[in-house]
Amino acid sequence: MVIIMLGAPGTGKGTVSGMLSNKLNIPQVSTGDIFRKHIKEQTELGKLAESYISKGKLVPDDVTVELVKNRLQDEDVQDGIILDGFPRTIKQAEALDEMLKNMDRKVSMTVNLTTPEDELVERVVNRRICPKCKAVYNLVLNPPEKENICNNCGHELVTRKDDNEETFKGRLNTYFEETKPLVNYYDKQNKLFSAVVSKSINKMGKDVTKDVLDYIKKNHID
Ligand code: AMP
Repeated sequence: MVIIMLGAPGTGKGTVSGMLSNKLNIPQVSTGDIFRKHIKEQTELGKLAESYISKGKLVPDDVTVELVKNRLQDEDVQDGIILDGFPRTIKQAEALDEMLKNMDRKVSMTVNLTTPEDELVERVVNRRICPKCKAVYNLVLNPPEKENICNNCGHELVTRKDDNEETFKGRLNTYFEETKPLVNYYDKQNKLFSAVVSKSINKMGKDVTKDVLDYIKKNHID
C-alpha cells in the first residue's frame, strides 16, 4: 500500500500520517523530517535543504526525488509506506509514478487534508514537536499534559524553525503554486480522498484518520 498525504502547511499531515501508520502498521516517511535530521547533523544535504526551507521554498526536485528513490529501496517499506510531504510538485509525482512502476507498485490513494486558511497560521505558530519520537502537539488544540514535555517519551518539545508567521506565508504561497495542482493530478486518476480538518466543525486528526480507515476498508484499497 502506498498512501500519499497532501495538504497545506498546518493541516495536520504529520499527525494523521502518524495515526495511520500505527493503525495500518506501515512506516510513515516524512521528507521534512529527513531534511530536518540532515540539518541537525549539518550534512551537505542538510546545508542545502536549510537554505530553501528557511525561506519557505521547496528543496529542488532532483535532490528530493533521489532521497525518496533511495528510501523506497529499504526493506521496511516494501509492504507499505505513508508518504508524508512527498510529492509536492507535479514533477515529483511523475517521478514517483515512474519509480513505483519500476518496482511493480503504484499509488494506492492520496489523502488530501484541507483547513480554512485563517486556522492554518494559528495551527502552525502553536505547533510543538517532539524531536525524539516525532509526536506533534498544539498548545491550544492538543497541549501536552506537562508543559513542554512529550506525553509519549518525556523529551522536551521544540518549535520548528520554519513554524513562524513570516516563513509560513512563503510556505503557503509555495503550496498554492506548486503543490495544490497535485489535487487535480490525483483526482483525475480517481485516487483522491479529501477531508476537512477544522475546529469550526469539530473535525480533528483522529476523526479524519477514522474516516480514512473506513474508506480504505470499504474500497478494498491495498
Ligand atoms: P514538512 O515537514 O513536510 O512541512 O516540510 C518542511 C519543509 O521541507 C518544506 O517547507 C520544504 O521546504 C521541505 N520539503 C519537505 N518535503 C519536500 C518535498 N517533497 N519537496 C521539496 N521540499 C520539501
